[in-house]
Amino acid sequence: MSKIVTRFAPSPTGYLHIGGLRTALFNYLYARANGGKFLLRIEDTDLARNSTDAKEAILQAFAWVGMDYDGEVVYQSQRFPLYQQYIERLLKEGKAYYCYMQKEELEKNRKEAEAKGQIWKYDNRYRDFVGTPPKDVKPVVRIKAPSEGEICFLDGVKGEIRVAAKELDDFIIARSDGTPTYNFVVTIDDALMGVTDVIRGDDHLSNTPKQIILYQALGFVIPRFYHVPMILNPEGQKLSKRDGAMSVMEYKNLGFLPQALLNFLVRLGWSHNDQEIFSMQEMLDFFNPNSLNSAPSSYNKEKLLWLNGHYLHQLNCEQLNALLPFYGAEIPNAHIQEILYPEIKERSKTLLEFVEILKTCLAPVKTYDEKMRQKVKNDENIHLLKEFTIYLNSQKKSFESLQDVESEIATFADFQGIKTKNLFMPLRFALLGSPGGVGIAPLIAALGIENTQERINQALKNLLEES
Ligand code: GLU
Repeated sequence: MSKIVTRFAPSPTGYLHIGGLRTALFNYLYARANGGKFLLRIEDTDLARNSTDAKEAILQAFAWVGMDYDGEVVYQSQRFPLYQQYIERLLKEGKAYYCYMQKEELEKNRKEAEAKGQIWKYDNRYRDFVGTPPKDVKPVVRIKAPSEGEICFLDGVKGEIRVAAKELDDFIIARSDGTPTYNFVVTIDDALMGVTDVIRGDDHLSNTPKQIILYQALGFVIPRFYHVPMILNPEGQKLSKRDGAMSVMEYKNLGFLPQALLNFLVRLGWSHNDQEIFSMQEMLDFFNPNSLNSAPSSYNKEKLLWLNGHYLHQLNCEQLNALLPFYGAEIPNAHIQEILYPEIKERSKTLLEFVEILKTCLAPVKTYDEKMRQKVKNDENIHLLKEFTIYLNSQKKSFESLQDVESEIATFADFQGIKTKNLFMPLRFALLGSPGGVGIAPLIAALGIENTQERINQALKNLLEES
């Protein structure tokens, strides 16, 4: 088998979304797993709709997920002269021709056909035209498509696809202003870039017969095609922004890890036994486009969160420290990291949640949850909190490690003749002001004696206020 060459070919008219990233991933995996090449081509021929930000966002997303491509990025907008050469070649070889039919007439014919409920097709009237072309009409260039037989190809996902030639017309390959059309440039580029395998969304399935006609006219080798079904929402509808069809970089902003997102995406439309967690190496070892699913896949937000939680859990302090400032966190000292990070990891599924909990733990309490306050506010709890600060003062040395704090809390509870768990609610109220957050012992160990006392005193003041 010749060396595998795949490509990802986004149009930068909108931000790269997760469907695009999944397509890129499949192409990437197939090439990398087989020692082939993975190329990146930006399809920016629609000069009016292109956005530089969107182009940059594609490169940013690639860098974020760690997907590298071979060679330089190919920009279609820089290749117009090349496309022009191939248009001229086809004209010269009599495989394409100028068509002088005016836009207005064409539109009129289309409307008439549609009014009769017919499917409109260009009538190939200039295909074999000889004579003097109409003056003042800028012609388009059309390909001479086969007029009989079938266009067939074996799609790696959909199986055999057959389209009757008569369903297609001599479609336009260059507009009247000379610019080449979409299917034409894709074909030229895939051929010249040596692409052997095209994995793309099945919204492109109807383009493929046209591209095959062009491959044949140009004498190029036809690549293998794999048209991947869309990602749908759990209701089986097109994914909306609210469901998760947002820009890849938005996932970063929301606190997702690239390894979780890639793992999530690889499973949308592909599986390997019933395995859910895939390291990059496993994806490379097992992925094969021939086992892509021909049914649409369903976006499951809970699963993405679960995967993110899984990968978040595996990060060590150093790795977390590298990621947290992006989310506005100040990195605490090593003692706090060691005690609190494992606690917070247990309780968060995203880096945003992680940072939120970290901030709640480390910032002084600003507001007290009223419901909790009403529950906590009684003489017994107030007494316990007061006694606890006194106990803290007497036990300073033994409150340095998590184990110390745990055993000191138990001793204090014993001493007070209560169960340890009865201490948790008043202490949580005093130290965090609200339910949730991390365990009380780790929090005290992380905060240290002085901060803990300060918070308890502040809470006592609050509890002793009227109301
Ligand atoms: N530029 C096309 C898109 O963004 C992809 C073309 C292709 O993969 O052949 O949908």
